Amino acid sequence: MSELAIIGGGISGLCAGIYAQLSGLQSEIFEGHSVVGGQCTSWTRKGYHIDNCVHWMTGTSPEKEIYQVWKDVGVLGEGQKIVSHDYFLQVDIDGVKGHVWRDLNKMQAELLSIAPEDEIEIKRLIKAIKDFQGIELPALKPKEQMTFWDNMKLLWKMRKVIPVAAKYQKLTLNEYAEHFKSPIIKRIINNYVPDAYFAISMFYMYAMFSAGNADLPYGASDAIALKMRDKYLQLGGKISTKKKAVNIDIEGSKCKRINFEDGTFVEPQNIICAVDASVIFKLVGEKYMDKHFKFCYGNPDKFPVFSDVNVYYSVDCTTETMPTMEIFNAEEFELAGRKHHFIIMNNFADQPNFAPEGKGIIEVLLVQYDYEYDYWEKLYTEDKEKYKAAKMQVANDVLVRLEKHYPHLKGKLNVLEVVSPKSFNRYLGSYKGSYMGFIQTPHVKKEVHSGVLPGLDNFYLAGQWLQTPGGLPNALVTGRFAVQRLLKREGRLKEFCCKK
Ligand SMILES: Cc1cc2nc3c(=O)[nH]c(=O)nc-3n(C[C@H](O)[C@H](O)[C@H](O)COP(=O)(O)OP(=O)(O)OC[C@H]3O[C@@H](n4cnc5c(N)ncnc54)[C@H](O)[C@@H]3O)c2cc1C
Repeated sequence: MSELAIIGGGISGLCAGIYAQLSGLQSEIFEGHSVVGGQCTSWTRKGYHIDNCVHWMTGTSPEKEIYQVWKDVGVLGEGQKIVSHDYFLQVDIDGVKGHVWRDLNKMQAELLSIAPEDEIEIKRLIKAIKDFQGIELPALKPKEQMTFWDNMKLLWKMRKVIPVAAKYQKLTLNEYAEHFKSPIIKRIINNYVPDAYFAISMFYMYAMFSAGNADLPYGASDAIALKMRDKYLQLGGKISTKKKAVNIDIEGSKCKRINFEDGTFVEPQNIICAVDASVIFKLVGEKYMDKHFKFCYGNPDKFPVFSDVNVYYSVDCTTETMPTMEIFNAEEFELAGRKHHFIIMNNFADQPNFAPEGKGIIEVLLVQYDYEYDYWEKLYTEDKEKYKAAKMQVANDVLVRLEKHYPHLKGKLNVLEVVSPKSFNRYLGSYKGSYMGFIQTPHVKKEVHSGVLPGLDNFYLAGQWLQTPGGLPNALVTGRFAVQRLLKREGRLKEFCCKK
């Protein structure tokens, strides 16, 4: 009987495994897919490297707590090269370009020159982003283990953030964008996260970037997931892939046995369940769904989710002179019954060996809402050929618009891969294809989950769904917290490896 079984080998599961091993707990990760990494993943198509995840990773500044965790799990620290861009994104509307610059004074000056009529709001925006640079994601201890002084320290660090958050907390991105007249600034605010998100998610994103706390490891998703996998294995952890858990036998308040799809089972002393939240309750049964998750799943209007269609194109020339990320208006096209008017292009030119010598690879991200998931689900289950054709249709629609916007790419683009919301669900079990947890709308209380379920003594949760609003750093810290909770419950917290 192993001491600890971890179900799910995404970032949260790998992190839990590393801290378990570092703390002397012998663990094994059981991953349903053929590789670990979960959403943080990549693969190869026709000699091109497809990175279907990270665009920015919070935690690259050594001043923030989360940096320590990335360091413990082997992702950051000495020897890890970081890719830092001068700007987060470029918006192009009718040939006029606005940027989210790392240098916020430069951003202010540029926006003022583009839209002097928005002067007051531009200055408020830049100030809000600067104030938000003080935000800290508590990363070293779960909330119930934080002392009075830990909380005081946190409040002190967040002293400038609190008034800004209070001022804008009731606004969605869409509503906040309406404070501006300039279409460029509207698009800078409202772009690749759904417009129902609360406005402060944007302050957070640009604050982290401008503070040097949201850059990218050289190698992108592989430099995160594979490094964590390697660290876990070096520490003596064991990984079993293609081990899809189907249910857990429970006796009294103890989880006794994990049953896998292939007919095998394990009987560990403790379980950390690091899968999509909807999968948790398939494993233990709906009766263990607590108030928090009942409320979230029961109120999809307040807790919507989103996904993407991601299209990858090989480029028959280098893309070094193209923007790293650009959003531009495009001739209207329809996808899953909704009209799209702009395109988000991401260029991987500064990542190593993503394309053969002299070639390039670019990605286009198209947001899909939860109600659009049904379109993909229906196509996939009813007619696979139609599903494939729908993916090719959007890829071709976008290709024409890319060629129009980047005339030098005419005849040089080829569709490499199309990822739909159904793909996330098929490979990882993601609820409605969501890869970022529940969307944080302004109208709900922001809660951090306790990481345990009432009535289950040896069962701990990890994963992005426990924290606001998902993403790699949130997934990461929940892995650490799960191990701390387990050790605390067993009266062994002193054995936790990495106190601070
Ligand atoms: C296109 C895209 C872009 C993104 N961009 C960013 C970004 O720029 N910055 C950022 O911070 N985040 C980004 N994210 C989000 C980030 O990747 C996720 O938040 C994070 O990886 C989630 O990790 P997790 O461990 O919580 O969950 P997951 O990655 O979902 O891991 C869960 C694991 O459990 C496995 N599993 C599920 N069911 C079972 C079962 N029954 N038995 C065994 N195993 C099972 C799955 O296969 C999976 O490996 C992006 C994601 C995507 C897809």
